[in-house]
Amino acid sequence: MIKITNLHKQYGELKVLKGIDLEVPKGEVLSVIGSSGSGKSTLLYCINGLEPIQKGQIIVDDIDVHASDTNLNSVRQNMGMVFQQWNSFPHLTVLENVALAPKIVSKHSKSEALEIAEKQLRHVGLGDKLSQYPSALSGGQQQRLAIARALAMEPKCMLFDEATSALDPELVGEVLDTIRLLADEGMTMICVTHEMGFAREVSDRVAFFHEGKIEEINQAEKLFGSPKSKYLQKFLSKVKT
Ligand code: ADP
Ligand code: MG
Repeated sequence: MIKITNLHKQYGELKVLKGIDLEVPKGEVLSVIGSSGSGKSTLLYCINGLEPIQKGQIIVDDIDVHASDTNLNSVRQNMGMVFQQWNSFPHLTVLENVALAPKIVSKHSKSEALEIAEKQLRHVGLGDKLSQYPSALSGGQQQRLAIARALAMEPKCMLFDEATSALDPELVGEVLDTIRLLADEGMTMICVTHEMGFAREVSDRVAFFHEGKIEEINQAEKLFGSPKSKYLQKFLSKVKT
């Protein structure tokens, strides 16, 4: 589904990704953990073509994302991305916010777009908020709105970048529950997260990033249970697991 080979990425002189090799098969949930600045977000931006790369290859669903003749819009339609915070359109209702992309990007009719939007909002547990405005939603509900919006494009995989880190602690659970639901449904996902409990429970595998490289990657239980790298051991001793 996603195959990354010898990926190198730098911003100017700053080398951020220094040779990433990674394969995520269809249906796998991979969590990415690691210190701030280790290149986790940059990896996601490279996967969905938001950032150019200097070397290597990223194949998503048989498409070479960074080939010069690749249509990035069609690549991105297959990948849903959820960031720390997403600014919804305040003057549109929750339903209209989610219906926007199916209408404009996927060229569905207005009624089809609204139908898709309603389906995905129910999917993430916001079926009772359709006609509300985003400002009436809690932070957790706004993140679920962002997830519904990504799902409305009917993506083949989802990329999450610390989707819960801007939330008050009591709102984290509902968003993680939604991501867990997608995992159970078999969605292919890469989740950058600092929720170690979630990573351990939901992921098939976990990759630990250190200074632009995958320092260690393993099944979640093994990576947390018997970390080999001394950097990973140190990282885990500092974060709550
Ligand atoms: P992480 O998500 O693991 O915290 P990032 O991928 O955001 O790490 O950043 C990795 C490194 O790249 C950091 O040193 C950061 O300052 C730098 N960086 C990120 N984005 C840019 C950018 N647009 N221009 C220059 N440097 C950047
Ligand atoms: Mg980041």
